[in-house]
Amino acid sequence: MKELDIKLGYNCNNNCLFCLNKDKRPFKHDTEDLKKQIRNSANNGCERLIISGGEPLIYENFFEILLYAKKCKIPLCEIQTNGRALFYEDYVKKIKSIYSNITFLISFHYHTPEMYQKYSQTNGFFQVLKGFENLNNHGLKFTTNTVLFKENIKHLGKILSILDSVNCQYIQFRFIDGKNVLDRFKEFVPKMKDAVEEIKKNIGKYPDKKIYIHEIPFCILGRELIKYSTPEVNEDRENLNIDKTVLNSPDIMKQQFIFPKCENCIYRQQCKGVRRIYANIFGTDEIDPIINND
Ligand code: SF4
Repeated sequence: MKELDIKLGYNCNNNCLFCLNKDKRPFKHDTEDLKKQIRNSANNGCERLIISGGEPLIYENFFEILLYAKKCKIPLCEIQTNGRALFYEDYVKKIKSIYSNITFLISFHYHTPEMYQKYSQTNGFFQVLKGFENLNNHGLKFTTNTVLFKENIKHLGKILSILDSVNCQYIQFRFIDGKNVLDRFKEFVPKMKDAVEEIKKNIGKYPDKKIYIHEIPFCILGRELIKYSTPEVNEDRENLNIDKTVLNSPDIMKQQFIFPKCENCIYRQQCKGVRRIYANIFGTDEIDPIINND
């Protein structure tokens, strides 16, 4: 599927300690440049517009951009958001009035307001829950994204239970990228095997949900969890992103670390490996090539 991923800017109404974009806050795209890119992409067969940030729903040009994408006849749209603005039902209704089939990818990292306050540094917990309710009431689909880090993996059971209670059907877990917490790396980044143990304890309770695990290689997931790993990279997928601020999947794979001992692994071709910084700090003991399907 051809996609265009645009970032309205990197400002946010949260301030997550592990945010990947916290060093880019002042950057903002010009509205006319965004429209031009949308128009070009639509003419080039773009089928889905992804609007992200920063927090896209706080930008004053958000609706202008959404309307423009609709006018350009891009059939699908996804908003990647922390979900706080979805607390306002009128906002949800207005979005739906433009794209009735719009979908959302919503951050959900914590099981309590205290954790939300500590790590995202705002009072947003209950706003996000209300946002889920508003989406459900208006028949809009959403996926949640939980960044797995050292403190929240202990509470995955509670996080999943909350997501179940708000009728969330699509869930993704994404292992933390430690590049913006380098000075506190081991405080934030768990060993992947520890995260996997916590996932194993809880994931089987929700057989009907579509759950994906990103950024943990097959050999650490182990046979029990491989079926939850991120779908294979689609080399035909085109990310028509602005100024290459968003890497496409093959480019991301090139930045990952694959080890000499991976050569004999049956997952070698589809594996994204692990991040270099992770391997530098934690070593490669967890890497254990899978050499057959038995
Ligand atoms: S290719 Fe390497 S990192 Fe990937 S699953 Fe196999 S052994 Fe693990």
